[in-house]
Amino acid sequence: MKCPYCDEEMEQGVIQSPHEISWKNKKYFFGKAEFHEGSIVLSGLSMLKGSATIAHCCRKCEKIIIDYKDSSCDMNHAK
Ligand SMILES: [Zn+2]
Repeated sequence: MKCPYCDEEMEQGVIQSPHEISWKNKKYFFGKAEFHEGSIVLSGLSMLKGSATIAHCCRKCEKIIIDYKDSSCDMNHAK
């Protein structure tokens, strides 16, 4: 993936967590996506494999980008 800021090739990596990884409009005490409308699950909870999402990094611009189209960023997502 090319960085949309500087157009250089981005470094692919992962963001992982023992918990679900999701985007929400703000931080909640109970943060699970299913409780909050409009949330985006980037990686569903997997106790066995650990939740992980593919993320692209540009060290020059100090940006990290996650492409969540069709849940393709979720490393535990069945393809
Ligand atoms: Zn960049």
